Amino acid sequence: MTTATTPTNFTELGLIQPLLARLTELQYQTPTPIQAQAIPSVFAGRDLIAGANTGSGKTATFALPILQHIFEQQQSNKPSNSKHSNGNYVTGLILVPTRELAKQVADSIKSYAVHLNGAVKTVAVFGGVSANTQMLALRGGTDILVATPGRLLDLISSNAIKLSRVQTLVLDEADRMLSLGFTDELSELLALLPNKKQTLLFSATFPEQVQALTTKLLNNPVEIQLQSSDASTLVQRVFTVNKGEKTALLAYLITQHQWRQALIFVNAKNSCRHLAEKLAKRGITAEVFHGDKGQGARSRVLEEFKTGKIEVLIATDIAARGLDIDKLPVVINFDLPRSPSDYMHRIGRSGRAGEVGLAISLIDHEDYHHFSVIEKKNKIRLEREQVEGFEADDISSDSILATEKPMAKPEGSGKKKRKNKEQVNADIWLNRS
Ligand code: AMP
Repeated sequence: MTTATTPTNFTELGLIQPLLARLTELQYQTPTPIQAQAIPSVFAGRDLIAGANTGSGKTATFALPILQHIFEQQQSNKPSNSKHSNGNYVTGLILVPTRELAKQVADSIKSYAVHLNGAVKTVAVFGGVSANTQMLALRGGTDILVATPGRLLDLISSNAIKLSRVQTLVLDEADRMLSLGFTDELSELLALLPNKKQTLLFSATFPEQVQALTTKLLNNPVEIQLQSSDASTLVQRVFTVNKGEKTALLAYLITQHQWRQALIFVNAKNSCRHLAEKLAKRGITAEVFHGDKGQGARSRVLEEFKTGKIEVLIATDIAARGLDIDKLPVVINFDLPRSPSDYMHRIGRSGRAGEVGLAISLIDHEDYHHFSVIEKKNKIRLEREQVEGFEADDISSDSILATEKPMAKPEGSGKKKRKNKEQVNADIWLNRS
């Protein structure tokens, strides 16, 4: 763990004026914990392992020092109007698991760089779209490349990119990258990189595969693991409900709370459509987002969700990682994710960068055991709650229905009057965001 003193503002972090000016415009008032703890080490040239979720501000953690480093190198080495990194060589390489994340990270970097007068060029490359357009974008040299592993290998084999002069390598969401089966591509890519470079590895979780990678790749790294309190802007709740009443409860919560936006997770592509149809019958319009949608459709849906045109989005886990939807008020697990780490990734879509967020899981009897496993693995324990009118028939013994803080009374089910005191309190609470 690092013991470095942690600066409390961006100026103390040693950022140059054009970057500071941009952060002010973006209304970043103070560094997030990961930024405060990691940026000094990145500036010092150290390798880094950071246990940080999306939403922690990790993109700026690597992007700002890389931008500053390249900018300063260019200022000292070249005339101010010179080209970018020579030929097909890139200086900063950021590997990410998904195309959405590639675009998002590249957009963030470009945004941080707006006052660098075009001195640092960033390009994103990812699969699922024509490689020709990306090759055109790479012409004239690229300083920072954000890439998914497969497409990067294709571009290397077409000689559009060379990695032998990379100075900084970032592995973003390393656990996701490995769990998506990019291990071989990653090994191939790593072999093309120079030995002398700075490596920054970000991962929400540290399964064995990631640990093996860090041992192999990193040289005496600084390790930063965010304390759970650093991410405590997210409130998690779990509601028990009968299986047959789940959709009704979901519709009730959506209409009752009028969330500006809600991201709902299910486990299968078909379930997205089924649930959207069922919600439509209850007067709620929802869009779906899953792997069968073409790249164009996915981008459009995401854009419309981000801008608020789509209010309810039903997604599979493809959306669980890396998507930066500003101030998403609520994430709902309609189906529980299979893996405990996916639970953390899903709920990380809400409560980002200091915003209060809410993650709700709807669990029926079949989910009780699995939810306990998710809790155990993630070292959390949540009080089971019920929404009046939607109470589960019977609560199994392994659940911990509130004793200290009684929730809606369990006797009787069916939809009776909707509001009692507890419910009103729950409503106020749920509306905090
Ligand atoms: P990230 O974890 O990098 O995906 O960042 C999550 C969100 O937090 C993005 O919308 C960033 O623009 C925002 N963000 C990053 N750093 C800060 C900061 N210091 N202050 C406010 N917002 C930030």
